[in-house]
Amino acid sequence: MATPKLFIPGPIDVSPATYTAMSRPMIGHRGSEFEALYASTQPGLQQLAGTQRPVFLSTSSAWGVMEAALRNLARNKVLTLCNGAFSDKWFDVAKKCGKEADKIQAEWGQPIDPELVRAKLSEGGYDAVTFIHNETSTGVMSDLAAIAKVVKSFPDVMLIVDTVSSFSAVPLAMDDLGIDVLLAGVQKAMALPPGLAVFAISEAALERAKSAKDRGYYFDFVEFEKNAAANNTPSTPAISLIFGLQNMLENIASEGLPQRFARHLQNNQMIHDWAARHGFQHFAPEGYRSVTLSCFHTPEGFDQGAFIKALKTKHNFLINGGYGKIKGITFRISNMGNETPATMQELIDAMNDVLA
Ligand SMILES: *Cc1c(COP(=O)(O)O)cnc(C)c1O
Repeated sequence: MATPKLFIPGPIDVSPATYTAMSRPMIGHRGSEFEALYASTQPGLQQLAGTQRPVFLSTSSAWGVMEAALRNLARNKVLTLCNGAFSDKWFDVAKKCGKEADKIQAEWGQPIDPELVRAKLSEGGYDAVTFIHNETSTGVMSDLAAIAKVVKSFPDVMLIVDTVSSFSAVPLAMDDLGIDVLLAGVQKAMALPPGLAVFAISEAALERAKSAKDRGYYFDFVEFEKNAAANNTPSTPAISLIFGLQNMLENIASEGLPQRFARHLQNNQMIHDWAARHGFQHFAPEGYRSVTLSCFHTPEGFDQGAFIKALKTKHNFLINGGYGKIKGITFRISNMGNETPATMQELIDAMNDVLA
């Protein structure tokens, strides 16, 4: 049987046009052809991130940059804002990097409360905060602007934001919000195969990184900045993925950002409407629901495993049966990337067929 079409929240379905772009013949990365390729990605990425700063290309998954942000910026103590599998793990990663770390632990399924962040930072001693905009494990989108406003009222605290599963699906305003690191992987809403992360850092973050003695080499922010000035990367990049990225950015530009954001909302609303018709309850509270995926409670007595399996064997669509400690008791459906109301309808028809 053919590989199922992915409606899991990453990696997601990749278009044939992207695969075609990625199969272009290889080029050397220390030459004008690569520099032109690199430069071509900048305006689109800067627009998506809402920044005038360069957007670096990291040959790694998002975690590479998530760890790098700690190693480059956390000097004394980091505060990690935790409300799901990815944000909770960031706390562990800070410890594994030898950083002193504290966390604010929200219940899974709940957003981060900005006032708790203010209270904690007021205790003093912190110099970095990690925050996940869209907790992909729970389908919760916290209020980035409100969190940024609080963190920015503490001048020495660097704000590190994971937009892995919101990047390109919602407007982001890195510069206006004073975000110091904004990072994303490309296998979520950017609809590329995994293996590349994109990130931008503020001038203040660059200055902080310069004095971080043990920041290493591969993820050294100062090296990224230096190479970006010449439209290049510190080490050999995933050139094929960058061809794919260039193709996606062209598609995004021709669709238009407002149209792209509206399409994600519309796709998402279709899944919400479908769930309401079947009585599936959201894991996230109203007002904090992700627009790129939906996470639902598995109803009492509902054989979630059989549902997902039948959807796959009968219709060749793959959705996800929950992540981390809520595996099995929740299920998740992605609507991000290249999906349209037409493809979401195909999924909905298939899910209805399986439920009937
Ligand atoms: C997928 C995801 C990650 C992890 O990304 P990797 O590509 O596995 O490193 C981190 N944060 C969020 C919010 C994610 O959705």
